[in-house]
Amino acid sequence: MEYHESPAQSAEILRLALPLMSRQAAALHPISYAVWYEYVAGINPGIKAAIDELTRDGSLLDEIATTALFRKYIAEIDERAAQQVAVGFKRVLEDMSLSAAQAGDDAHRFGNALVQLTEELDGFPDGRQLDSGVIKLLADTRGMQSSITQLNERLDDSRREIERLRQEVHRAREDALQDALTGLTNRKGFDLALAACLAKNEPGSTGPSLLLTDIDHFKRFNDSFGHLFGDKVIRAIAKILKDNVKGKDTAARYGGEEFVILLPETPLEGARSLAEKIRQMVEASRVKRTDSNETVARVTVSLGVACYRAGESASEFVERADRALYDSKNLGRNRVSLADRTAAV
Ligand code: GH3
Ligand code: MG
Ligand code: MG
Repeated sequence: MEYHESPAQSAEILRLALPLMSRQAAALHPISYAVWYEYVAGINPGIKAAIDELTRDGSLLDEIATTALFRKYIAEIDERAAQQVAVGFKRVLEDMSLSAAQAGDDAHRFGNALVQLTEELDGFPDGRQLDSGVIKLLADTRGMQSSITQLNERLDDSRREIERLRQEVHRAREDALQDALTGLTNRKGFDLALAACLAKNEPGSTGPSLLLTDIDHFKRFNDSFGHLFGDKVIRAIAKILKDNVKGKDTAARYGGEEFVILLPETPLEGARSLAEKIRQMVEASRVKRTDSNETVARVTVSLGVACYRAGESASEFVERADRALYDSKNLGRNRVSLADRTAAV
């Protein structure tokens, strides 16, 4: 899942999230911000359902519950990155509250000055007093203006800082959802993408379809040429998948030598032809050993394709694609099989 909100939209989400966050028992920090951001933005159905359930009886979210939600529905983010974001976020909030307090003090002083001036004008309605009163009023007004200008500048800085932090959280999150070997989305990222896709799915819409891929006899590459060469084969297949997805499609490394492509708006037939194209491209490709440049035996993949059936869970959907994949394996590998063709079309 990605954040697509503009800075203006995310500022609005922050505005809506702050009162919800501050009502909880957990402190205001990037973890709770990320949790409530996703809740308010409506982009993470899992977290929305879990929070609604946890707070249904009026319970508040404490640190433990908030962190657990973050880990389960958003991502594990590396501790150092989380720490950096936490420090920056705290600074922004402190700065904003300082600015607000200062503006409040200035407004208070200004109000007092006006009251005092009115009393002076009432008591001494002659020209000399009026002149000094007006001069004082002007000076106070200028003081107020300059503090409002300062306040605006500080709020602008804070807004910029919030945007930077938002991007930092985004980046930490992206890293946590990416597979290090191939650069594809990892299993967790795929699970989130699939959950979001199914939450948006409307009855009668086209797709989504899933395309599950497993490298044939992969163990032989490891056994014959070593684990590093095995990794090279995995990266080569990942590149073919990456080159064949676009737009809203997600290619992910599902497990060791298993991959999955989520096609949110593609019907079974379209998914089948993409699967067949990938099968052929893999079959035609040759992965070379770095040391000898010797061409090794061809690599093939087996694929299973399923189109979403209204009402089924994410795991039922994946299982159908998985059964189709194993049909391909059982039928001799290097082929594409469709799940429950008659039922799904
Ligand atoms: P099949 O055609 O039935 O899929 O046979 P296979 O040999 O591909 O399947 P199997 O599940 O028996 O073996 C998969 C192997 O993949 C076992 C595991 O050691 C290896 N593997 C898993 N992850 C990685 C990885 O990241 N790098 C490398 N080099 N090997 C891995
Ligand atoms: Mg496998
Ligand atoms: Mg395999």
